[in-house]
Amino acid sequence: MSTSRSGRPCPNSRVTKLMPYCKQCMKNGDPSLRAVKHPRFGKILIATRDLPKGYYAAWWGKLCQKKKIPYKRMEWALETSKGMVDAVPYKGSLLKYCACPGVKVLSLRFQC
Ligand SMILES: [Zn+2]
Repeated sequence: MSTSRSGRPCPNSRVTKLMPYCKQCMKNGDPSLRAVKHPRFGKILIATRDLPKGYYAAWWGKLCQKKKIPYKRMEWALETSKGMVDAVPYKGSLLKYCACPGVKVLSLRFQC
């Protein structure tokens, strides 16, 4: 699912069938995206190249029950029909830095 800064798809194998990223992309994030320091609000997600319309990125993390996520992480958690996705512990899960998502968000179960 991830692409290089030149737009080529990542050539590495996915970590699992359900995870659309390889080990390196999970660790560092999609090379076409990057979290940078915002002058006033911590970090914010930017694109490192012009992304095509309909570009997909995964909001991934630990699937948890809402009550098990610490309060301070709730601002960055994604609510799904299966529970809450807590991406905070994962550096490469970059969509948590998305201010106002203009991309389609695909959430996936990674751990339970
Ligand atoms: Zn990759």
